[in-house]
Amino acid sequence: MSKNQILKEILAEVDKHPEIMSRREALKYMSISPLAASILAGTTAGTTAAVASDAKGKIVIVGGGLAGMSTAARLANTLSNPDITVIEPDPLSVSYQPGQTLVAAGLWEQSDIQYKRDDKLPAGVTLIKGSVTAFDPENNKVVIDGKDEISYDQMIIATGLVLNYAAIKGLDGVITSSGADNAIVKEKVGKNGVYSIYFADGASDTWKGIQELIEKAKAHTGPEKLQALFTDPNTPIKCGGAPKKIMYLTHARLEEAGVRDKVELTFYPDGGKMFGVPEYHEAILQQFKDRDFKWNYKHNLIEIDTETKIAVFNKHWEEKGAYDKDLEEFEIVKKSERVEAKYDFIHVTPPMKAPDVVGKSAVGSDKGWVPVKKETLQHVKYANVWSLGDVAAVPMGKTGGSVRKQYKVLVDNMIAVMEGKTELPAAYGGYTVCPLITSIGTVMLAEFDWSAKPTPSFPLDPTKERWIWWLLKVYALKPMTMIGMLSGKA
Ligand SMILES: Cc1cc2nc3c(=O)[nH]c(=O)nc-3n(C[C@H](O)[C@H](O)[C@H](O)COP(=O)(O)OP(=O)(O)OC[C@H]3O[C@@H](n4cnc5c(N)ncnc54)[C@H](O)[C@@H]3O)c2cc1C
Repeated sequence: MSKNQILKEILAEVDKHPEIMSRREALKYMSISPLAASILAGTTAGTTAAVASDAKGKIVIVGGGLAGMSTAARLANTLSNPDITVIEPDPLSVSYQPGQTLVAAGLWEQSDIQYKRDDKLPAGVTLIKGSVTAFDPENNKVVIDGKDEISYDQMIIATGLVLNYAAIKGLDGVITSSGADNAIVKEKVGKNGVYSIYFADGASDTWKGIQELIEKAKAHTGPEKLQALFTDPNTPIKCGGAPKKIMYLTHARLEEAGVRDKVELTFYPDGGKMFGVPEYHEAILQQFKDRDFKWNYKHNLIEIDTETKIAVFNKHWEEKGAYDKDLEEFEIVKKSERVEAKYDFIHVTPPMKAPDVVGKSAVGSDKGWVPVKKETLQHVKYANVWSLGDVAAVPMGKTGGSVRKQYKVLVDNMIAVMEGKTELPAAYGGYTVCPLITSIGTVMLAEFDWSAKPTPSFPLDPTKERWIWWLLKVYALKPMTMIGMLSGKA
């Protein structure tokens, strides 16, 4: 889809609602915002052409999802003599995961977000349809499917993360991002009130779950409200906004059906605030109050009884203990208790971790994620190993928005090393963007970086929910990702 087509679609939508915004205003938003401009520019090939290089070397990329394929494309565009191999087992690896939120709200179909790996393989790049089962960075090689070895001069680890449903007692299964291996998880998730948008089938099932909740609410007559719970675990997760987005969208659908007053919506995050950036935290808190949402901080989901429909949380807090005369301070005592909550509908955001084959290997770390220098994305121990995307140990780095910044940095730095340079020229600054969907029709565009301050690309209050960002999310971000990033240019 071209930039003009996208603009045309957005403006057609704007024309239907002149009471919200005029065409002139919409065009003003689009043209002043550097983010909007770069998103629209990124939907057409040819925006940021990389500088050509004659560097030589065999490059192996482990994982051909969004990060791996975008990096492969940019390397292929840049090197005059590319020798690039991507290892990826999943035929649908480049499917558009951010769209799963819209599938779960009944706005998109799964077919709107499914993309074939083989269609997105950049020209000149070799694909091995398999999984890396062992890393041997001392000898510069990896093992594929337990049998074939492949060696490299430079390796990029872009395996994404796994969804660890099995860490919650009562659920089973650990699945990769595509969820192609989801049969075990689906025995308990996607039915009987337990839902999860983090894999594609799970997103479609969540939409069925929301519709069932609406029907149940319509038939509900008792004084007690139905209970809808939304969890957020104690591990880093991809797209930190998604556990809230699905809550806002469930609220919107209940309201639209006229049954919002029959259902209580409660958020159970492991953490003690709504967002790491204070300005966005405050804004979300107000949005929660306006919608009459409830929330219980420091509650980590540890168990679900799918028969009795009871969710069990580890509620945790700290108390002041005895005074330590030597240290001249009070001890901090960690406390916790088991809290049970009945549910009619529960949205589970599973704990997430690096795949064991990565996390428990020589290229992993105690916490599993691939330890890279967060600015350069070079491995802390192996100078010819690099990592980006969800599997990299980079703070706040687990979004497609972060990948959009990271893959250009990685390519510039890796090529510098291949050219024998000692200085790495590029640095990632921690920028990321979370288009927080707050209803069907509004988005708060939370942009920020490691300074934990809003970094709005538009001279307007970034904590406000806006329709124009909704249009950008629904019409422009997918082509920007699927055309712009996957061609190595956006
Ligand atoms: C519900 C949801 C909503 C989201 N919303 C947003 C949003 O609004 N904005 C945003 O920017 N981001 C969003 N994201 C996050 C974004 O999709 C991810 O951050 C992004 O896909 C990360 O790219 P990646 O390449 O690191 O991982 P992935 O795209 O998951 O790809 C990893 C690939 O590695 C492969 N792999 C795994 N193990 C191996 C192995 N051993 N050998 C070979 N290959 C392997 C996998 O098969 C997979 O294809 C969302 C994600 C979800 C699930």
